[in-house]
Amino acid sequence: MEYISTRGNVGKIGFIDAFMMGLGNDGGLLVPNEIPVIPAATLKEWQELSYQELVLAIFSYFTNGEIPDEDLKAMVYASYSTFRDPEVTPVRRINDQLYLLELFHGPTFAFKDIALQFMGQLYTYVAAKQNKKIHILGATSGDTGASAIEGVKGKEGIKICILHPHGKVSKVQELQMTTVKEDNVLNLSVDGNFDDCQRMIKDLFADLDFKASNHLAAINSINFVRILAQTVYYFYAYFQVVKQTDEKQVNFSVPTGNFGDIFAGYLAKRMGLPVGKLILATNENNILERFILEGVYKPGDFRSTYSPSMDIQVASNFERYLYYVLGEDSAQIRKLMDQFKAEGQIVISGEALSKVQAEFGAHGVQGQECLDTIKKYEAENGYLLDPHSACGVAAADKYKNENEITVSLATAHPAKFNEAIELCGIEQQFPEQISSLFEKEQRQTRVGGSLTEVVRELEKFYNAR
Ligand SMILES: *Cc1c(COP(=O)(O)O)cnc(C)c1O
Repeated sequence: MEYISTRGNVGKIGFIDAFMMGLGNDGGLLVPNEIPVIPAATLKEWQELSYQELVLAIFSYFTNGEIPDEDLKAMVYASYSTFRDPEVTPVRRINDQLYLLELFHGPTFAFKDIALQFMGQLYTYVAAKQNKKIHILGATSGDTGASAIEGVKGKEGIKICILHPHGKVSKVQELQMTTVKEDNVLNLSVDGNFDDCQRMIKDLFADLDFKASNHLAAINSINFVRILAQTVYYFYAYFQVVKQTDEKQVNFSVPTGNFGDIFAGYLAKRMGLPVGKLILATNENNILERFILEGVYKPGDFRSTYSPSMDIQVASNFERYLYYVLGEDSAQIRKLMDQFKAEGQIVISGEALSKVQAEFGAHGVQGQECLDTIKKYEAENGYLLDPHSACGVAAADKYKNENEITVSLATAHPAKFNEAIELCGIEQQFPEQISSLFEKEQRQTRVGGSLTEVVRELEKFYNAR
């Protein structure tokens, strides 16, 4: 297995190199040169694996044998040892048609932990093996930052800087990121929104001299390893459901911002997992819903919502999907991405759009519908959804069909987003790990929205001991 860029100008590279490159050096996104298809007999064997064993089985198709088995195994077990549920990502039955895949049992109570705890291990491993300095740089709409910091705080050879949009993350998200006291962590609170933060990160990664001289490494879902780690729970959830129901195929409903998590589901499907529809749930920032329903990919006005981790207009993983839907034609991707830069939109139609609509459903959930969904499931099922998971469930309900099962991804614990829960008139009990955050001291640096200011802070941070 080797890796290439969606824009066609990165030579075939190995797994560790792809991990370290993050964004493709030609500005594209890295993808495997060939997606492995898992034989049905192997899928059957995988049904009996534990979560950790399944990670190892899936990764074995992608790592090129570059990491000795016992090292990979140690990293995988260490990554998930911090999870509060022995199953790592347990599946809960809500009713005959709906199951929830709980992805929030990691240290920072959101699904980002599943990939980022592993990536933290892998960065630490590469730093030690190659005797390298690694400076992780990322943008967060709230959850990635906390999780990535948790994965590498205090680790030898590693520094991490996270940009978050000032005042646009939830209180608990902010506290999780900024109450970490290790000196290898820098939080920049940026005037602007997540798209501004992500654009700056992409600009810095596209400046190859800056990237190389500052040892930059990526944790956002531009990094293929993050996607790969997330494909595992689609397999795991599928196996849990078919064991309980004798169903042959399931749909997945996925609360989406950067198209990262749902792209992992698409990859699982391409690998041969019997997935029916992938239902894409957005909030009012619904560029992806409009793309799927109309074929027009065009950012609208930014809105702050009850589900801030999905307040994203420009979805960086979208390019990966576009690459596959257009038949892996990198020349066309280059043309479309140039056009997007120049004209601010991409339009597809005809056969390509039909293909998109055969694979995906989409529903943009408005604020009131999100809160109503939280209230309804709390009252009728005694299950408290966080506002992101509620978008997924609302979309699953919209596509509900008597004879099908949908697994909706529960991407965060409700305690992270009490702002929305309070609006539902629901009082929740905070887990101790979250309530204790409120007493801790915060450390963050406020910066204006210009790249120059961000670069100045980064240089200060990298030059400090
Ligand atoms: C990041 C995040 C999402 C969106 O995931 P993408 O990979 O950006 O599509 C959804 N829910 C929560 C809680 C998140 O933190």
